[in-house]
Amino acid sequence: GGRGATGHGPWFPLPTRWGVRAVEAQLVMAGPWAGRRGLPCCLAVVLVLIALPCGSGHRRGGPWAAALLERLEMANQPGEEISGHASSSSSWASSSPSSASSSNSLLSLVTGSAALSPSSHAAPIWVEEFLSRPKNCFYVAVPVSFITDSFNLVGLPDVPYQKETLQLILSGAGKNNETLQASAEVLYGLIHARYVVSRPGLETVRRKFLRCEFPTCPRTLCRGQQMIPTGLADALGRGTVKMYCPSCRELYDTQADVDGAAWGTTLPHLFFLTFKDLEPSRVAYTPYEPRIHGFRLRR
Ligand SMILES: [Zn+2]
Repeated sequence: GGRGATGHGPWFPLPTRWGVRAVEAQLVMAGPWAGRRGLPCCLAVVLVLIALPCGSGHRRGGPWAAALLERLEMANQPGEEISGHASSSSSWASSSPSSASSSNSLLSLVTGSAALSPSSHAAPIWVEEFLSRPKNCFYVAVPVSFITDSFNLVGLPDVPYQKETLQLILSGAGKNNETLQASAEVLYGLIHARYVVSRPGLETVRRKFLRCEFPTCPRTLCRGQQMIPTGLADALGRGTVKMYCPSCRELYDTQADVDGAAWGTTLPHLFFLTFKDLEPSRVAYTPYEPRIHGFRLRR
């Protein structure tokens, strides 16, 4: 922080992307309406843009989003860093015990099992086994460090025998129990949905995308464009996983009988927003034109 050293008037702080967006909006607005009426108009837009994320974000996003915001605020302080995966030794749970203790009963177990392998970036053996099944080919491997970071499990929906289930995922204990196996698949899907929209998760999805491990769009004129898995809803039981094509911007069914909530509705759009170079150009999109003897149909 501080004042600009260039001496071109007062320094204007832009701490967040909302600030940048607001100023961008102001620049756009200033173009056509640069007259006297333009200024109050611009100020109103700037105020609305700044107020939007503050007003509804906490309530709409649920406890995990609130915890994420809290963590981001913590990370803005000097000496702290944002860690969606437990890369740093300072745990979110230990630094803010009041909010962590009331959130989720899984947390106590995770905090206890953090000693298992707190810095491991490899996936647990159960996860490797789970991913080797053909129907689970769209999942990515969530590392131990992400699962054992109590912050990442805040506010997850309850699954049957969740403590034992988490223990199964992390250590493989009770892998012959069918009930636990079924619960583990659900719980892994829920954790997976959070992992894929985190920065390291997006990076993992990108590597899978670049290795061409996702199916290609069945639409002929999309010319083999690779797709990204997504769900029709973020809640469990609202349909199986679908594939989103960034070229025709359509969803396609898959053969995989896996809950779409394990990817959620955000992944493809956040993915192409993060890795803009991977999104096909809109100019390259070719709509299909019906013709009879070469003449276009007019309806
Ligand atoms: Zn397509």
